[in-house]
Amino acid sequence: MTPRTITVLGATGSVGSSTLDLIERTPDAFQVKALTAHRDVAGLAAAAIRTNAELAVIADPDQEPALATALAGTGIAHAAGADAVRDAAGLGADWTMAAIVGCAGLVPVMAAIEAGKTVALANKEALVSAGDLMIRATTRTGATLLPVDSEHNAIFQCLAGSRIERVRRILLTASGGPFRTATIDRMRAVTPAEAVCHPNWSMGAKISIDSATMMNKGLELIEADHLFPIGSERIEIVVHPQSVIHSMVEYIDGSTLAQMGTPDMRTPIAHALAWPDRMDGPSAPLDFTTLGRLDFEAPDPERFPALRLAREAAVAGGGRPAILNAANEIAVAAFLASRIGFLDIARIVATVLDRYDPPAPATIDDVLSIDRQARRIADEVMKDMAA
Ligand code: NAD
Ligand code: MG
Repeated sequence: MTPRTITVLGATGSVGSSTLDLIERTPDAFQVKALTAHRDVAGLAAAAIRTNAELAVIADPDQEPALATALAGTGIAHAAGADAVRDAAGLGADWTMAAIVGCAGLVPVMAAIEAGKTVALANKEALVSAGDLMIRATTRTGATLLPVDSEHNAIFQCLAGSRIERVRRILLTASGGPFRTATIDRMRAVTPAEAVCHPNWSMGAKISIDSATMMNKGLELIEADHLFPIGSERIEIVVHPQSVIHSMVEYIDGSTLAQMGTPDMRTPIAHALAWPDRMDGPSAPLDFTTLGRLDFEAPDPERFPALRLAREAAVAGGGRPAILNAANEIAVAAFLASRIGFLDIARIVATVLDRYDPPAPATIDDVLSIDRQARRIADEVMKDMAA
């Protein structure tokens, strides 16, 4: 069998490394075309050497000399800069993992979609910001978009090719994050170190904070609304602290299908990597005898206002989700840098949404300009708050 060509965007991150872990277990099946990263030259070079990649690209142009040194004598080609990341994404690998974090991944994802092959999507912020345009481009180019986010991968598996008109409800499960049972006073005082500790999943810093504010579930609601168009009012969020059921689909005949597994991203990634087939995966199997119980509860809209903000953005559409996402990215970075408090994150997002209401984006450039403007306004809002 000829090996499938693979590109991993965001190869040094949590999802990127899990993807490479799977690929390295069956090296004969895959040929790595390109790996990209932001600034981690050592991590990128090591991954490229390990996987015998053809090309390694670092987004930060200042790191080009360091990458050249790290790859000297290996025969692996290298490049640097955001345009080089986009070009690597557009090389047309059979399968591309989109695992850059944030709207920074939008242009590369679009380049991968334009190539018309299979794109495994972890980078939810890109879909949230430019959902309509991205789905339209996928249809036009004939690309296959496979959801990697564990909930969306679960929904995709539960749909199993059924007609979307036969779905009554989608139940998007949420762990509730580290502050599921915390009081609002406790939440006001949490530190970045406390907020990044997720009870069930090990993930990058940004998504870990999003899980703590539940903005992650809000972004996932918008993500699901684009991937599975049944109307956002029929997508419900259910808190399920054990993270064993990764989401459910309820059909019009009353059947509800759930996808289950231990919380390990290598399961949904393996699903997307082998689809429509299956492959061996390293995740620990579920042990139902020690599992004990599965709990479910409604999310608390008072302590987690991000859920309402995201739902409103999903319903309004247009540029609202891109503003929500951009303001959140700025606020999360400020929280991680200890410049604002935990509860300020949603407050900043709400204020930016109040202050800015541009016309709906018609192009990716429009989305990028809304993203930039929302970031500027978020910075202003933070200055006002500090004054
Ligand atoms: P991470 O922070 O661990 O890794 C991010 C990757 O993107 C790194 O390789 C980094 O070098 C690269 N990157 C960051 N900024 C960049 C830029 N400006 N230009 C180019 N590359 C850049 O993040 P992660 O946790 O792996 O998450 C990646 C994406 O997958 C996010 O959109 C996240 O929401 C989504 N996701 C992650 C998980 C998880 O378990 N970690 C689960 C579901 C979805
Ligand atoms: Mg998820």
